[in-house]
Amino acid sequence: VKDDELWKIFSQYIRLRDSDSTGYCICITCSRVYFWKEMQCGHGIGRQHMATKYDERNNHAQCKTCNSFEGGNEDAYKKAVDRKYGAGTWEQLELKAKTVCKMGANDFLILQGYFGAQVKLLLADKGLN
Ligand SMILES: [Zn+2]
Repeated sequence: VKDDELWKIFSQYIRLRDSDSTGYCICITCSRVYFWKEMQCGHGIGRQHMATKYDERNNHAQCKTCNSFEGGNEDAYKKAVDRKYGAGTWEQLELKAKTVCKMGANDFLILQGYFGAQVKLLLADKGLN
């Protein structure tokens, strides 16, 4: 339950982070443009891996079409991550995904507070709601 609540806020944060000053985002894997509310938060490495689930480099605004592909259009995603953060980043994320990461109730609360505040700032900044 805690995880679902955090994901909801985190997903908003990622889509707002990736949107321009008017709230439009470019899909990480196909470059189509949609309003942030119509976008999804697409993860590169599967959400079942807790160690990378909330890594900001592993999550980006992605259109519904790409996100619903098996693995979220993984090939294009990998390339986009390395372009954005530097060669080898995807490999680092893959290694990180294999590590054990246990999140306690407090961890969820802290992250929820942090990303919740970011969402508010981004919305105010862009004049969105
Ligand atoms: Zn797309």
